[in-house]
Amino acid sequence: MKENTCAACDCELDATRIAVKIGGRTVEVCCEECAVALREAEAATRAVQTADK
Ligand SMILES: [Zn+2]
Repeated sequence: MKENTCAACDCELDATRIAVKIGGRTVEVCCEECAVALREAEAATRAVQTADK
């Protein structure tokens, strides 16, 4: 994956990029919608892992 693409939708990042902390590392997304989607995906993943224990 290229570093210059959105972590959620894979479109190219421009000046409006947003940094989002996911699981201790920072990724960049193209817009607030993608930031929210990533946070929700991470929260869902964490919930599954917690339920798995
Ligand atoms: Zn995006």
